[in-house]
Amino acid sequence: MQLNNTEIVIATHNKGKIPEISSLVKPYGCIVSIASDYNICEPVEDGLTFEDNALLKARHSAKASTKVSLADDSGLCVVGLDNKPGIYSARYAGAKKDFNLAIQRINDELNDRKVTDMSAFFVCCLAIVNPITKQELVFRGEVHGQLTFPPRGNKGFGYDPIFIPDGYDITFGEMEPQQKHLISHRSDAFRKMKEFCFA
Ligand code: IMP
Repeated sequence: MQLNNTEIVIATHNKGKIPEISSLVKPYGCIVSIASDYNICEPVEDGLTFEDNALLKARHSAKASTKVSLADDSGLCVVGLDNKPGIYSARYAGAKKDFNLAIQRINDELNDRKVTDMSAFFVCCLAIVNPITKQELVFRGEVHGQLTFPPRGNKGFGYDPIFIPDGYDITFGEMEPQQKHLISHRSDAFRKMKEFCFA
């Protein structure tokens, strides 16, 4: 699927992800719109994997906008919690999308289970759907690291303030966004996507 210089609808309503995904595709001359530009509502994310959820969001946006659509499904997997919250990462924050609450819940679950292994990883699946050619592609990226409590930094979003990527001593929340974008799970997935979609 060749995507240089095409219009791409980013199928997300997560304001934290929009600049990160836009910064990945803009260097290839893509014109970026977002799902809300086309009044596209959020589909029910009832997939059982990151791959399923990314695909269903991209399909939903491609059908509604009739444009090539790029969706991301991502989340934090905590090794000592059997990789939870995983695909439920957004839902841990409740209806008010309060990530202080979600971070507190993870800390409580680690304490309840007396987990000392703070290993965790972010996963991102990027799905791209072309409604004209019916082509669909999915790419998975990961970044591994350690959790830290209490949260540190306010430069990111979601779980960024508790995640220290391997090889660093600052959290994603303390990191400049450009630096995070170079090593994130989203850019890892995008590197794989680039080989198939951008020249
Ligand atoms: P969804 O992919 O929109 O279903 O939501 C995934 C959730 O995982 C987000 O709401 C964030 O809480 C979390 N998440 C995904 N990527 C990141 C990231 O780069 N930093 C911090 N939290 C993230």
